[in-house]
Amino acid sequence: MKSYFDTHKKEDCNGCGTCSLLCPVNAIKMVEDEEGFLYPKINEKKCIKCNKCRNVCSNIVEKNNYTIKAYAAKNKDEEKRKNSTSGGMFKILAEYIINKKGIVFGVKLNEDLVAIHDYGETIEECKKFSFSKYVRSDLNGAYEKVKKFLNQDRYVLFTGTPCQVQGLRIFLGKDSEKLILCEIICHANPSPKVLKMYIKNHENISKQKVKQIYFRSKDKEMDNSAYIEFEDGTKKKIQEYITAFSGNQLINRPSCYHCQFVDENRKADFTIGDLWGIEKILPEFNDNKGISLLTVNTEKAEKIFDEIKDMLDYKEVNLKEAFRYNHHSNLSKNKHRDKFFLNISNGKINENNIIKYLEKYTRRPLHSKVLGKIKRILKRILK
Ligand SMILES: Cc1cc2nc3c(=O)[nH]c(=O)nc-3n(C[C@H](O)[C@H](O)[C@H](O)COP(=O)(O)OP(=O)(O)OC[C@H]3O[C@@H](n4cnc5c(N)ncnc54)[C@H](O)[C@@H]3O)c2cc1C
Ligand code: SF4
Ligand code: SF4
Ligand code: SF4
Repeated sequence: MKSYFDTHKKEDCNGCGTCSLLCPVNAIKMVEDEEGFLYPKINEKKCIKCNKCRNVCSNIVEKNNYTIKAYAAKNKDEEKRKNSTSGGMFKILAEYIINKKGIVFGVKLNEDLVAIHDYGETIEECKKFSFSKYVRSDLNGAYEKVKKFLNQDRYVLFTGTPCQVQGLRIFLGKDSEKLILCEIICHANPSPKVLKMYIKNHENISKQKVKQIYFRSKDKEMDNSAYIEFEDGTKKKIQEYITAFSGNQLINRPSCYHCQFVDENRKADFTIGDLWGIEKILPEFNDNKGISLLTVNTEKAEKIFDEIKDMLDYKEVNLKEAFRYNHHSNLSKNKHRDKFFLNISNGKINENNIIKYLEKYTRRPLHSKVLGKIKRILKRILK
């Protein structure tokens, strides 16, 4: 496979920034494009044509030959599971590392509601990483910080998208017994620029600041939907944003439609996600409170799993079956995506109307609504 530096196609760069960190003469800068995603840019005057950037690209991935095991898993602590996106697996790994006086890296929303990588050294500090932030995170110097802590002989857990994890692995250049890599299952990363504009549009309409975003909630009052909370405490659902990210693939990074980390051949030590299809795969395990899909992908992870398994309820599941209803092949780009971003760069879509455009592009066509209704009626009759 060729690298982004040869093809110059955006779909071939996941934005990890490893090439920029490893260039021997500091000739690569990560630059934001008009869609709000980062790409490497070479300063030709500085470049010594050593080709290192091509050889270290994280988007060129090798197969993991380990016999990967998959589990349906839930944190035995109900409170911790409630305060997690899925089954609360992240918290178990985080506690394992914190108990070893280690450092945990994850994604939080900062005071400007921008998703960034950060680290925590206590259980309390790691709470900010709970719950998925459905947007591309800014790595915020995380790779260099991980390296520094490993050099201090500390345990480190790094969590992120599979491409961010792969970028870190290549940046470090060697494995360490004290490093645990945990990737989330990830089907796409939306543009931070779109999220920023979307929030601003809500603020402009409501004439007040949004104080928090809940990308996925277990809040019954909000029907378990995604929502934002304004300064005065009022809440508003943000389904059009979630659909644009997840349901109809409008606002995501080009590399996500060509993702190299898509199948059940997982690359990090652990992979955590939702066990979609649990009602078909393992109905007796389902309690509708969030079930994790956990895969154990390396020998190191298998040893750790033995140490943490008492903190979970778990059941082994067939690996292929576990991914059957989850993300296991690339999703197609929405046919309006390029026009949508073009209209952002020319100002037609802006902070005063982006909600309207997201609604427009995520609205289900009439024929699909009618078909859905017919299906539901038939299901009821056949019951
Ligand atoms: C953009 C995105 C797409 C996803 N797509 C899928 C999918 O298709 N299928 C699926 O099964 N699961 C998907 N997930 C993962 C799922 O939503 C949960 O994050 C995962 O199951 C962990 O849940 P938990 O209960 O163990 O952890 P929680 O306690 O909720 O912790 C959340 C974990 O996710 C990490 N995280 C949060 N936001 C980001 C981010 N923007 N980038 C990188 N890491 C982040 C945190 O650092 C932490 O490790 C996705 C998550 C994200 C952020
Ligand atoms: S070819 Fe070498 S010097 Fe030039 S940008 Fe790539 S890594 Fe840097
Ligand atoms: S190393 Fe990362 S940022 Fe650089 S070209 Fe490859 S995917 Fe893109
Ligand atoms: S879908 Fe693939 S390329 Fe996109 S953020 Fe996730 S792992 Fe990276």
